[in-house]
Amino acid sequence: MSIGFELSDGFGKMREDYVFAEAGRKVAAFTERHPSRKIYRLGIGDVRGPLFPEIVDALSGACREMESAETFRGYAPASGYDFLREAIAEYCARGGIEISPSEAYVTDGGKNILFDVSSLFDCDVLIPSPTYPVYADGAAFFGKKIEYLVGSESDDFAPDPPRKGRYLIYLCSPSNPVGEALGRDKLTEWVKFANDSGSLIVFDAAYESFVFSGVKSIFSIDGARNCAIEVSSLSKRSGFTGLRCGYAIIPSGLTTASRSVSRAFERYCASSDNGVAYPVQRAAQAALDPSLDAKTLERIREYSLGALALKKAAAKRGFYVLGGSSPYTWLKCPDGFSSWEFFDYLLSLGGICCTPGCGFGEGGEGYVRFSSFAPLQSVDEAAFILSEILRKL
Ligand code: PLP
Repeated sequence: MSIGFELSDGFGKMREDYVFAEAGRKVAAFTERHPSRKIYRLGIGDVRGPLFPEIVDALSGACREMESAETFRGYAPASGYDFLREAIAEYCARGGIEISPSEAYVTDGGKNILFDVSSLFDCDVLIPSPTYPVYADGAAFFGKKIEYLVGSESDDFAPDPPRKGRYLIYLCSPSNPVGEALGRDKLTEWVKFANDSGSLIVFDAAYESFVFSGVKSIFSIDGARNCAIEVSSLSKRSGFTGLRCGYAIIPSGLTTASRSVSRAFERYCASSDNGVAYPVQRAAQAALDPSLDAKTLERIREYSLGALALKKAAAKRGFYVLGGSSPYTWLKCPDGFSSWEFFDYLLSLGGICCTPGCGFGEGGEGYVRFSSFAPLQSVDEAAFILSEILRKL
């Protein structure tokens, strides 16, 4: 017996999700065949932790509160506890961005909202390619018409806005997979385009903490409060990939022709989930406390140093390579290699595991991405091996 109706059309519209699984399968098979070979795991974009003790103390302290009737908490407010919304606003203020705590909406990381956001609007969607695949998956799942802006070396994968059209536009800066942050001039062009055309920018700032001197937030661009929302996450900044906490910033004055976007978002939050766990929100508050800024920055710098080492290794051999403003390095494959062929080559010759660029959309074929979330010493070793491999090509 089967159920009497089909899965929704959305499943058929999402891209085939084979690249990441296939890369994992190939690495597992290689490890089994060569158990004594050292493998440099620069494929997936997951942090390696551990959490800072201050974060764990806040998490466990909040769990203990749940033990007693006086301090027990049930359902959290759908948009987040005030203490965390205030901590987010203060964190933004330290980066020079003024928002009200009520404009910060606590989420369980960035992914859900990035997948869902196009479903909240009656819109077409514009997606630069290559980019984080979740944008296209979400838009396709909800049956949106998608246009891609395919990047290239001529614009260092930072495409200009189109000449016309009205879209929900995903911008990811610093970019996964390209590893570079968009500059102020480029973002100003995008904000101008969005305001002139009645478009909405969804600015994915998951890697904002990797920007040391440059634009971390779309809201540092004049006019962005009328045409943008920002999605951010503690995953990469503070090691929350497993704990799950992020936030969306929705300016209070952002409206469609007839409705407030923040009111609509509140309605969506209230109906679609029951908020983020109290202990996790306390842990996020601790992670955003200014007393942890220096330690957090030190860790981010270590990841960035790894990305820069890989970038230098390739650049010194004359290869086109981008990255360094994030944990990612984006390398053009040597002539004649597809993304998958170069992936196989690096794995078998150097034990280096990367991600084929084709996993990030059409614009990624012919490139590979390295993630430097591995221990710095191991990334440095991989950079040396990479440079030797490229020297011989
Ligand atoms: N945005 C980008 C560009 C990412 O690379 C990721 C995760 O890898 C996310 C958002 C989502 O992260 P999370 O859901 O853990 O906050």
